[in-house]
Amino acid sequence: MSRILITSALPYINGIKHLGNLVGSQLPADLYARYCRARGHEVLFLCATDEHGTPAELAAAKAAMPVDAYCAQMHRTQAKLAAGFRLSFDHFGRSSSPQNHRLTQYFAGRLAENGFISEVSEKMVYSPADGRFLPDRYIEGTCPNCGYDKARGDQCENCTKQLDPTDLLEPRSAISGSTDLEVRETKHLYLRQSKLKDELDAWIDSKSNWPVLTTSIAKKWLHDGDGLQDRGITRDLNWGIAVRKGEEDWPGMEGKVFYVWFDAPIEYIACAAEWAEAQGKDEEDWWRWWRTDAGAEDVRYVQFMGKDNVPFHTLSFPSTLIGSRDPWKLVDYIKSFNYLNYDGGQFSTSQGRGIFQDQALEILPADYWRWWLLSNAPETSDSEFTWEKFQVGVNKDLADVLGNFVSRVTKFCRSKFGEEIPAGGEVTPEGAKLIADLDARLAAYNGHMEAIEVRKAAAELRAIWVAGNEFLQTAAPWTSFKTDPERAAADVRLALNLIRVYAVVSAPFIPDASAKLLESMQTDVTDWPESMGSALEVLAPGHGFAVPDTLFAKITDEQREEWESSFAGTRG
Ligand SMILES: [Zn+2]
Repeated sequence: MSRILITSALPYINGIKHLGNLVGSQLPADLYARYCRARGHEVLFLCATDEHGTPAELAAAKAAMPVDAYCAQMHRTQAKLAAGFRLSFDHFGRSSSPQNHRLTQYFAGRLAENGFISEVSEKMVYSPADGRFLPDRYIEGTCPNCGYDKARGDQCENCTKQLDPTDLLEPRSAISGSTDLEVRETKHLYLRQSKLKDELDAWIDSKSNWPVLTTSIAKKWLHDGDGLQDRGITRDLNWGIAVRKGEEDWPGMEGKVFYVWFDAPIEYIACAAEWAEAQGKDEEDWWRWWRTDAGAEDVRYVQFMGKDNVPFHTLSFPSTLIGSRDPWKLVDYIKSFNYLNYDGGQFSTSQGRGIFQDQALEILPADYWRWWLLSNAPETSDSEFTWEKFQVGVNKDLADVLGNFVSRVTKFCRSKFGEEIPAGGEVTPEGAKLIADLDARLAAYNGHMEAIEVRKAAAELRAIWVAGNEFLQTAAPWTSFKTDPERAAADVRLALNLIRVYAVVSAPFIPDASAKLLESMQTDVTDWPESMGSALEVLAPGHGFAVPDTLFAKITDEQREEWESSFAGTRG
């Protein structure tokens, strides 16, 4: 048994996430967490909402709510949707937690003590009417390129040109509309990542098992152009974690907060502290996951994220941890994903394009989505969701293969032997061949799950389901029953036992269907199979079962067409 720490990239707080976000980190992380638990490992699986920064303030303003109340409400919404998709977090925290405030300030203090923070004077736009500095997107004006009169200081939404606030004609505050703006000098803190470049380089070189997608992105940032750049870690905002040097004030930094990119990954650690507190545990209980001087040297730490998050997780966050010169646990393996596209374009939160998590759960149960998304996870390249592919995948794999097997076996047994595991007969040659085949496939499935090869694991699980149907076809107990009922009994006994095995090995992908199968087989034996021969004898002759209701309903052409058109536009 090992101890495995798993974190999923933190979903940003400014709205309900789409299915592309789900399959790009949280869902595969959940798959892996469920698998590791099923194999008897001790798992701590953490995720949280990322709540600071300008987009949170803007979303709250749009919802006409105070930003703290907005974040609290949206956190509850996201937590409810995560539960709906059966994401089995040990804790779903918040980057605005008191634990993250303390830890972020602590890290900043340690980095300053160790010479990894510099103070830089910058010129920024100040609005006397608002009494604050304005971030780029809080400044509006006329685009010098196209004349659009609501261009933002960072970009014109109309012509997409990247802008500097000083490019805007007739600039004004987006908060008050005041045109009385001035450029003032202000100080900001920078994390001196460039000083840690060699240490980061050596650390990444030591990770020979990382996917190329991960290391190539990290190496590019380390070496391209002038190499790794120092990064600002403070902002002139009201909403965020106040800049302090540990527990002390930071002279000259009054009224400033840490930049969201700095505090968000620290929430991975703070989330463990939140988890411990919620469970009535002590500091040592979460330190044993995060401090190598307190037990975490035995922990394997795996992170899940979309490829756009890789630089922060391979360079910026490790800079924070390494630069603290404390024995914090560094990540052992990063699993990164490409993008899931939607019907010929991109999923987009800002444009409301695609399928959002709440809408998905309104039309179908979680397992349908979990199976399709994971079996089509964008691992080696981007992948695409279309309603037709979705319909085919669900109907074929879940309804025709798995669901059909369960239905045929249980109904046949009920009609010929009653609702209990039949006695009599010995394992038939077809049965022995099935056992050998499943042993080989299970070994391959385990290997893919351990390597976090999501699509390969799904393909192998599908093959395990197919093997059951092929066995039924060749053994044909409905024929042998007429001439050799003992032989039919032995094959049906094996097939009913296989339903329990399917429930166990499929649970990481489709936990609800798995629970339903265990219930209908009236068993709570969920040990991961070591050998198929013995796993397929767990339900003994005379053990009762009940024919389950339809496991997976097929998606009809009418449903598909209806969803195709209702999800074609953009969400308001
Ligand atoms: Zn423009």
